[in-house]
Amino acid sequence: MEKIDIKSLTFDELSEELKKMGLPAFRARQIYKWIHEKLADSFEDMTNISKELRNQLKDRFEFVTLSAVDVRISQADGTRKYLFALPDGHVIESVLMKYKYGNSVCISSQVGCRMGCRFCASTLDGLTRNLRSSEMLEQIYQIQKHTGERVSHVVVMGCGEPLDNYENFIRFIHLLTCEGGLNISQRNVTVSTCGIVPNIRRLAGEHLQITLALSLHAPSDEVRRTLMPSAATYHLEDILAACQEYFEVTGRRVTFEYSLVKDVNDNLTEAKALARLIKDMHGHVNLIPVNPIKERDYVQSNPKSIQEFKNYLEKNGIHVTIRREMGRDIGGACGQLRKSYLKSKKGG
Ligand code: SAH
Repeated sequence: MEKIDIKSLTFDELSEELKKMGLPAFRARQIYKWIHEKLADSFEDMTNISKELRNQLKDRFEFVTLSAVDVRISQADGTRKYLFALPDGHVIESVLMKYKYGNSVCISSQVGCRMGCRFCASTLDGLTRNLRSSEMLEQIYQIQKHTGERVSHVVVMGCGEPLDNYENFIRFIHLLTCEGGLNISQRNVTVSTCGIVPNIRRLAGEHLQITLALSLHAPSDEVRRTLMPSAATYHLEDILAACQEYFEVTGRRVTFEYSLVKDVNDNLTEAKALARLIKDMHGHVNLIPVNPIKERDYVQSNPKSIQEFKNYLEKNGIHVTIRREMGRDIGGACGQLRKSYLKSKKGG
């Protein structure tokens, strides 16, 4: 019989499984607490559980953990980039960023990605597999243990498209924000998507309080298609209608991410079109100077164009921030640490 991934079970599911094993209800509370609150490394850590029962648990359940194969700490701002090995040996990246308001962890949701955005390093080798909920949680659990500091914010903006791994992602959100676990406020969790319309609508129907970030990157389908293959399937009109629905159902304002690429999407014509497109959506724009990857020849917009783009939006009543680059000294854009690790393993 295949073992059950215990860290991906909700409290009710765990209770049900333990009941099937003939165990009393208090065991579920005890074990859930060891896993999601005390962040146990294995069944061995569960000192108030007899060796015999621990062995029984080991026979029935898989205890998923990640191990850090590389950690880089920025001298500039304390950002830490982690390269974690999954139980099957694949590696993923996660990042800890220290802000005045708390510690924020950026996690991966898939090994690789199949969305194909042209400027993104995560997608160069396609999708290897989805991450399980336990593997998403473990990125945060391991980082909290490694730093000894509480993680207060989570952004699902690492490798992968979270809404292309929908069920595991939703389960992860419930485990992360439930009272018996780290109990992180849903309002402190952000999920970023390239715009998978049916799943944005499904997400609205979950009635969560997480922030939705849309990777917009261009104000027209035409320009967007040159950057993001998914734009051929999902059109801006439908994507924005789904975002509006998310806002109306949850009351949470949507964030629009806009990576500025020199001469592709950074001129004033685009700024004007963008302002027109989202003016009634009460959203907020996060401008990201594109982080060039060596496999593509995209160039970062110059500071003057970025500032002009920002000024134009602000003059038109749109709230804008420019994303501060964190950990500049430790390994470039998303997915690049992983790529260089894989390359070195291949000896290439
Ligand atoms: N699949 C999700 C998460 C991707 S990463 C999504 O598409 O939203 C988070 C953000 O970083 C996305 O907006 C993504 O488009 C952007 N991004 C990825 N690589 C980048 C790069 N090299 N420079 C600037 N932004 C990048």
